[in-house]
Amino acid sequence: MTKQLEKLMFVQGGRCFFCDQRIPATEASVEHLIARANGGANSEDNCVACCKSLNALLANKSLKEKLRIVLNQRGQFKCPACYSSKETPYSTESNGLRLERLSRISADLKNRHPALPRTVNALRNTIDAVFQKKLTAEDISSILDELQSSGRITISENKVEYQLAP
Ligand SMILES: [Zn+2]
Repeated sequence: MTKQLEKLMFVQGGRCFFCDQRIPATEASVEHLIARANGGANSEDNCVACCKSLNALLANKSLKEKLRIVLNQRGQFKCPACYSSKETPYSTESNGLRLERLSRISADLKNRHPALPRTVNALRNTIDAVFQKKLTAEDISSILDELQSSGRITISENKVEYQLAP
């Protein structure tokens, strides 16, 4: 690995700039965003580390073509305005993450027993606190939905009842 590639890989946390997957050193390569053939510099500003296979595909294409290729692949990419639409940016998140959140909040609620939050708002605040206020309002709503659909809680007129397994 060249010094330049080593540095880029370090900066990117060992992940491909484009697909965000960890890449082994043997699969990493330096991609010049503006191709050297098109006058692009060999400076850090113009270079990213990425999978060799993608680098070969991007080759000497123009930056515009490269952007199009990248955008065509990124299903989860959303512009800021898209966030106000009904579909939340987390709709594509993996089942694993959702289950992890669900079991984390269930475990926390069991620990709080019998001092459980009795209203929807109190429960929302509890969930917010458990996840260190990193969730959006939509995330919290989806966790509430899942707690309900999995039978862990029932909500009627803002009051929450718990059916937490021991
Ligand atoms: Zn990649």
